[in-house]
Amino acid sequence: MASLQRQLNTLKKVLEKTSINVICPLCLRGFSRADVLYAHFRQEGGEDTMHAGLAMKQADFGTFISCYERAMGASIPSSMLRDGHECFKTWFIVENYRRDAENGAVHPDASLGELFNFDALDDCESTCV
Ligand SMILES: [Zn+2]
Repeated sequence: MASLQRQLNTLKKVLEKTSINVICPLCLRGFSRADVLYAHFRQEGGEDTMHAGLAMKQADFGTFISCYERAMGASIPSSMLRDGHECFKTWFIVENYRRDAENGAVHPDASLGELFNFDALDDCESTCV
């Protein structure tokens, strides 16, 4: 557990140095700004109802929260989702992604690769910076 915590602390520092501030909880792609993330939701939402739902936070909060929780694999109190773009912030996603899958058990060997899609980060460097 201590080792994983150290890795997470390192990852947090690494992320602070990147231009990634928000993350799509469906594809785990990182973006520098919330408006770029919302443009991604709308673009992908043309073919994917989950992405479309994520773009509906203002218009239809009920649809938004059901899509958001399915994407995250975790139930998140709606009070944590109402404020601005907090629920798409990098570290919020990292901390809560697939949280319910843990079932309260500690997984000391859980790899960071499962928590975080590094391929998505690589992808972002070429397309989003
Ligand atoms: Zn996406």
